[in-house]
Amino acid sequence: MEPSTYKIDIEGVVQGVGFRPFVFSLAHRLNLKGDVCNTTYGACIRLNATKEQFDNFLNQLQKDIPPLASINNIKVKTIKYKQFKDFAIIQSDAIGKKVATIPPDISICQECEKELFDKNNRRYKYPFITCTNCGVRYSIIYSLPYDRKNTSMKFFKMCKKCQEEYNNPLDRRYHAQPIGCFECGPRLELYLDDKRLDIEQKFIIDKTAQILKEGKILALKGVGGFHLMCDATDEEAILKLRERKKRPTKPLAVMVRDIKQAKKLAFISKKEEELLLSQERPIVLLKSRKNLKHIAPGLDYIGIFLPYTPLHVLLLDIINKPLVATSANISNEPICTTFKDIKRLKGVYDAILDHNREIVNVCDDSVLMVVGEKTIVLRGARGYAPINIKLPFRLENDTLGFGANQKSTVAIGFDDKIVASGYIGDLHSIESISHYKKTLDRLVDIYNFNPTVMAYDKHPYYESTKLAKNMIKDKNKASKSVQHHYAHILSVMAEKNITGKVFGVAFDGTGYGDDGNLWGGEFLVCDYKGYDRIFHFSYFKLLGGEKAIKEPRRVALSLLFEIFNEDTLKLKNHTTLSFSKTELKNHYIAWKRSLNSPLTSSVGRVFDAVASLLGISQTISYEGESGMLLERYYDSKVTKSYPYIIKDTTIDILPMIKKILEEKDRTIAVSKFFNTLVDIIDTLYKPYISLPLVVSGGVFQNRVLLELLFKRFENIIISDKLPPNDSSIAIGQIVAKI
Ligand code: ZN
Ligand code: ZN
Ligand code: FE
Repeated sequence: MEPSTYKIDIEGVVQGVGFRPFVFSLAHRLNLKGDVCNTTYGACIRLNATKEQFDNFLNQLQKDIPPLASINNIKVKTIKYKQFKDFAIIQSDAIGKKVATIPPDISICQECEKELFDKNNRRYKYPFITCTNCGVRYSIIYSLPYDRKNTSMKFFKMCKKCQEEYNNPLDRRYHAQPIGCFECGPRLELYLDDKRLDIEQKFIIDKTAQILKEGKILALKGVGGFHLMCDATDEEAILKLRERKKRPTKPLAVMVRDIKQAKKLAFISKKEEELLLSQERPIVLLKSRKNLKHIAPGLDYIGIFLPYTPLHVLLLDIINKPLVATSANISNEPICTTFKDIKRLKGVYDAILDHNREIVNVCDDSVLMVVGEKTIVLRGARGYAPINIKLPFRLENDTLGFGANQKSTVAIGFDDKIVASGYIGDLHSIESISHYKKTLDRLVDIYNFNPTVMAYDKHPYYESTKLAKNMIKDKNKASKSVQHHYAHILSVMAEKNITGKVFGVAFDGTGYGDDGNLWGGEFLVCDYKGYDRIFHFSYFKLLGGEKAIKEPRRVALSLLFEIFNEDTLKLKNHTTLSFSKTELKNHYIAWKRSLNSPLTSSVGRVFDAVASLLGISQTISYEGESGMLLERYYDSKVTKSYPYIIKDTTIDILPMIKKILEEKDRTIAVSKFFNTLVDIIDTLYKPYISLPLVVSGGVFQNRVLLELLFKRFENIIISDKLPPNDSSIAIGQIVAKI
């Protein structure tokens, strides 16, 4: 049979994962000639082969694909005959629409770890050891395709030995873009009390471990930013860190040497163990074995993760103790990524372990939890970002989604794809807004993306909305504003490829409603074209607006005013007693006259009210704190719930609030509260049972609520790639066909 020239176009995760060398050796094995290259959409193979040879090749290509690679789409055609002399890996083709999938940063592989501890290996204890199957990717990339010259490794000239490995298709480091060694790759620098220590590379980590053992606080540059670290068994060091960082109660994550050490700290299910050990190495929230009052005050769960770079592996191996590892940032600002950034935290750290490989794309640690059989992403960043979603339809326009204001992300949508940035953070400071802009620009640059439509939140004061509006004006683009909770539900529909109508429940902190009120307890029947708000929690006044978000007691007080009006001033309970007489009076006047008291239907705020009424928390220092504090009071033996009233389209929970006030036992009150929320969903969903039940919104990060829902509704649909919080908003905005 006559040979022809075949062209195979492959889309998927095929760059930086050893795909081309795999194709190379497969072609050699089958004695076929041609070439392979990276393209802007993935990879392209050309081949001289008969039909039979070609079928065999394609079959084996898909069967033996390298572990980190995955194929989304293969297009095959025959082209004009070209006689190849051998099989070669050729220069990347940078022309065309950029749609290739950027591989995320992943943890060190077993083979590299073995070499790391092998005295005879030339990379023995080299803290940046890597190969095609592991290491940094997204955090070092400037643009596609993923080649060394498009990454921050371009500043390091390979030594002869590294170059040989890089060029040899049969080597594990063939085209491993971040390849390097002691001679040619990135280097460490250690500073103590702002003085650089003159120590040989090989001994820097030993010295760092010693510093930590002395109870000092270390700023360490990792993959996507700096961590602040200290000995997790040293209470004094932890308190020092909390005080210096002004972070009184927010839980701190702990990095442990290995799974054995993790098991000493927490109870770990099989599924949780798999997550901890996965190549993404996220922080996993685990039930702690003992009360770690300084690491996670008032909580039964702690965030644990394993070392994910050779640097962390070496450090944890030497110190052999769990280390607190929390993102190094000034509050409300993004995580520090440069030496200059980290110097702004002077006074917080005692020592800095820096290195000279630039972090191009900031990446915080990802945070996940396992509830029942489901994995819930609470923060999607390192190891997961950028997040790719394949849609069940083609988008009509290339769309840029600006996301929300908290836990923000940005996303681009084209063809039938969405690519979303990782977690950016809250847009509450100039630095975080500039970080947001940079992330957006980078994502647009990497993909050479030219949006025709800008999609943003309806909230007029969100920083993301303001930026969107400026860009729309500047560039004369089409736009759409998408209601926050509708975007929440749409994000799940997009991820889960749902095409029909759904019954959506959005329980949230707050989001801007169509009527200008702050929504957050919404029941929507919707599809991509629009939604009906069929029920919502009754409005109440948010005393002091933004201030109420930090003070659960204000929310509780407002609900008490709704029930008892002025008589509230005579009541003696946890909420009223937390105020002075004058404060109470002033609040009453403000409430009565609706001064700085926007209306809200937020369920997140109801959690706050319950926590205040029961004396669990009156003020909070981080978002979602009261919800997390409530979790530990839940008792599954309590099966009863509280009364509530459904009238027209509203859900009145004042009867429940009244009963909670009378309850003597916290456990009973909290348990009945959770049961009531599930009852409400159950009752309202019944007439719509033929529609899929979709839930999203920050409240669905609550473990107890999720457990109860999974038990009650077998087919409930919640994201597992996207967080249920506002990180999902950008995705929902893109798919809205309004
Ligand atoms: Zn490796
Ligand atoms: Zn080298
Ligand atoms: Fe939200």
